[in-house]
Amino acid sequence: MGEFIPVNEPLLGGNEGRYLAQCVDTGWVSSEGPFVERFEAGFAARTGRAHAVAVANGTAALELAVAALGLGPGDEVILPSFTIISCAAAVVRAGAVPVVVDSDPRTWCMDVGAVRAALTPRTRAVMAVHIYGLPVDMDPLLELAEAHGLAVIEDAAEAHGLTYKGRPCGGLGTVSVLSFYPNKLVTTGEGGMVLTGDATLAARVRSLANLCFEPPRRFVHHALGWNYRMSNLQAAVGLAQLERLDEAVARKRAMGRRYTELLDGVPGLTLPLAATEHAENIYWVYGVVLDEAVPLDAEEAMRRLGALGVGTRPFFWPMHEQPVLRDMGLFAGVRCPVAERLARRGFYIPGGLALTPAQQERAAAALREVLAHA
Ligand SMILES: *Cc1c(COP(=O)(O)O)cnc(C)c1O
Repeated sequence: MGEFIPVNEPLLGGNEGRYLAQCVDTGWVSSEGPFVERFEAGFAARTGRAHAVAVANGTAALELAVAALGLGPGDEVILPSFTIISCAAAVVRAGAVPVVVDSDPRTWCMDVGAVRAALTPRTRAVMAVHIYGLPVDMDPLLELAEAHGLAVIEDAAEAHGLTYKGRPCGGLGTVSVLSFYPNKLVTTGEGGMVLTGDATLAARVRSLANLCFEPPRRFVHHALGWNYRMSNLQAAVGLAQLERLDEAVARKRAMGRRYTELLDGVPGLTLPLAATEHAENIYWVYGVVLDEAVPLDAEEAMRRLGALGVGTRPFFWPMHEQPVLRDMGLFAGVRCPVAERLARRGFYIPGGLALTPAQQERAAAALREVLAHA
C-alpha cells in the first residue's frame, strides 16, 4: 500500500503567495483591504451579476440570502432533501418552514416536477442547489417561480465555472450563493459570496453581513445583523484562485473523464453523467453509487477503500432524515426514495485539484478490487 490518498487536496499554485505577501507588506488584513473588492468584482463579472458581497463562508451566505429576502414565520421554502444541512438550517433559523422534495435519479439535483407538486399558497421561495457538478434544470424552475411570484435562492457552492445552457451558475437566482471551502473549485480557506442583480437586496446583504452598521451614527442600530465579513487575506487567496478557475474546471473535467474510463463497465457501479441536455459535468466531486446487487453498502465500501489507502466521503444525508430536524417536528411521514438511496449507496472518491494521475489510477484500481471481492 502506498501513501494514503486524501479525498481532497487543494491546488494553490498561482498568485496566492504573492497577493498574501502584499497584504502583509501593506498591513491590509481586515475586510476593508483592497482585495475584497477586487475578488467581488471578479466573481460578479464571471457570473454576469451587478452585485457581489464576499462573506465568511457559504453557510453564512445562505443565511444572509434568506434574511435579505425577508423570509420568516409562516413562509414555506422548498429545497432538495439531498443537500447539506446549511440549506435547511438557514430556513429554520429564519423561523420559516423548510419543505423538502426528492432528487432526479439521473442528476441527483432537485426534481423540478416535485417542486411544482409541493407548492402551496404559503410558498415564498425555492432553494435550488446544484449537486456534485451538474446543475438543477433551472429554466422550468425559473418559469414556475415567475408564475407564482417566488424568489429563487441558487446555491452554486459546488458550481463555480459550471454553466446551464451556456449561462453561468451563480448568475441564475434572484440571489445566488457560493462557498470557498477548500474542496470547492475556488477556495479562500473559509469563505463565501452572495451574488444578485438587485441593488436593494445587495445593500441589505451587505448591511446584514456587517452588523447593520448604519449612518448617520455608527454604533446605533435599527436592525440586527451578523459579522460575516471576509478578510483581505482570504480575498487575496480567492482572487488568485479565480484567475485560474478555467484551468481548475478543465482539470476537474479531465479527472472526471479519466475516472469514467478507468471504472467503465465495473459491474454494480453507477458513475456520474458526463453531461445532460443542458450542461457538461464539472465533476465537483466524482460520486459513485452502488447498485442493489452489490452486497455492500456505501459505508462498508468506504471502510474497505480506507484500508487500501484511499480516502472517501459519504454522500449527503437527506434533510428529512436528520435527527435534529425531526426532533423539531419537521418532515413527519415524508419519503424521498431517491435521496434515501443515494445516502445509503453513494460516496465519492479522491478528486481534489492536486490529485496526481498515479493517485487517480490507484484509487480506481482499489475501487475495482473492493467490488471484485464484494
Ligand atoms: C459547501 C457547501 C455549502 C456550505 O459552504 P461552507 O462554506 O462550508 O459553509 C453550502 N451548500 C452547498 C451545496 C455546499 O456544497
